[in-house]
Amino acid sequence: VNINNLTLTISAASKKQYPETALPEIALAGRSNVGKSSFINTLLNRKNFARTSANPGKTQLLNFYNIDEKVHFVDVPGYGYARVSKTEREKWGKMIEEYLTTRENLRAVVSLVDIRHEPSEDDKLMYEFLKYYHLPVILVATKADKIPKGRWNKQEAMIRKSLKFDSTDDFIIFSSFDKTGLNEAWQALEKFF
Ligand code: GDP
Repeated sequence: VNINNLTLTISAASKKQYPETALPEIALAGRSNVGKSSFINTLLNRKNFARTSANPGKTQLLNFYNIDEKVHFVDVPGYGYARVSKTEREKWGKMIEEYLTTRENLRAVVSLVDIRHEPSEDDKLMYEFLKYYHLPVILVATKADKIPKGRWNKQEAMIRKSLKFDSTDDFIIFSSFDKTGLNEAWQALEKFF
């Protein structure tokens, strides 16, 4: 794929705004601040294509990024932001559920967690939800540069156990700072388009 050929197709709030294309889609989800925008920007070799941590007051939308007319990356607004109201959280839930459970173009979901921490309850719920709907997951453990390499295996084992990780899913240890896992991430993604 030519990562220089990028466009934002649409920011969609609901089904009727999803693009009418046959392009395969890969969604990306994770709690706010996990490093999702940094992951997308690193993949695409851009500084600020995916914009960082959504302002919690702002409308939460699904951003469809067209990558070289081959795939849409669908950037899902981050979850678990403490200051979001119950109404906002419910709106988020409905929008995500509608997308994940009905979108035929959807091929896989990148689920991001922080390699340093035990997955949150929201992280576990998300993974369980994705597996319930038989969606292939690419688990990306972010911020690997923040811990010594010697601890990566132990953290990976802890995350796998905590999520009851499906061994057929990919697990990628990643850092936007030093680009650890960049090639592995692309290989995992390209299986789906
Ligand atoms: P988002 O809310 O999930 O989109 O997260 P961002 O990509 O905005 O990242 C949140 C914060 O974590 C920012 O301060 C980033 O600079 C930092 N960050 C993201 N990825 C990494 C990483 O791989 N390593 C380190 N050290 N910091 C990171």
